[in-house]
Amino acid sequence: MKLANLAGRATIVTAATGIDVAAASDGRFGPEMADVYEQWAAFREWATSSTDVTDAVTVPFDESALDNPSPTARQVFGIGLNYRAHANETGRDVSSVPATFTKFSSCLSGPFDDIVVTVPTVDWEVELVVVIGVEARNVAAADGWSHVAGLAVGQDISDRTLQYAAGNQFSLGKSRPGFGPIGPLLVTPDEFDNADDLRLTCSIDGEVMQDGRTSDLVFDVCALVAELSSVLTLLPGDVIFTGTPAGVGAARKPPRFLKPGEVLETTIEGIGTMRNHIVGP
Ligand code: ZN
Repeated sequence: MKLANLAGRATIVTAATGIDVAAASDGRFGPEMADVYEQWAAFREWATSSTDVTDAVTVPFDESALDNPSPTARQVFGIGLNYRAHANETGRDVSSVPATFTKFSSCLSGPFDDIVVTVPTVDWEVELVVVIGVEARNVAAADGWSHVAGLAVGQDISDRTLQYAAGNQFSLGKSRPGFGPIGPLLVTPDEFDNADDLRLTCSIDGEVMQDGRTSDLVFDVCALVAELSSVLTLLPGDVIFTGTPAGVGAARKPPRFLKPGEVLETTIEGIGTMRNHIVGP
């Protein structure tokens, strides 16, 4: 199943049309995506078996109306150094536990929103994003996927100067407004032939900057759910940015950063493409 946040309302996506979840379920689920995550197991059951869905009226929509599929996530995790080639380009080693930071939820934005750059060192990081559907505490890696609502495309936009100020300030450097675009859809894991091996790319004005596969993740989705839930409780709607492959701007020679006027396109196979315009203050 593919789900979208269409102008604030949870929507089941069928080709280029959508089914409003709250309307089709007579108010049982929705109207917002956060409401759907809170009842994820019951929602999945309904969405995949009820005649409410097969009989529902579909509405056409324009992709520009799509918003972040978990805009009110209570916890947002970022994972650093989770691809070997990216760890190498930053001159750091892969760690024995996931290198975890938070992106504060106020940075979350939509798949077609502008990214405002107010400093000269704003960088891109294409990432597979996991949205939690079922609360997770001390979950075994083998059960990881059963706690995942779905996958989305994400950009872990980073102000490199602030990120490394005063030692490390990852959480601040990655949380300026608009630094967490996610979308365009939330795709449930069963939709993929292999949800652990997806191509992810990003480009600036059509020039490819990053091109990797999630099969190269050091800690894969199940490992991240297990590791994080061994420390804390993962809640419905929580977001995990799983890390970025090689090719970020700061590691280029010379370094390159996002500039107003550029268009950042970010794609994961089987999910879709985000398109964010870079603008000045
Ligand atoms: Zn990142």
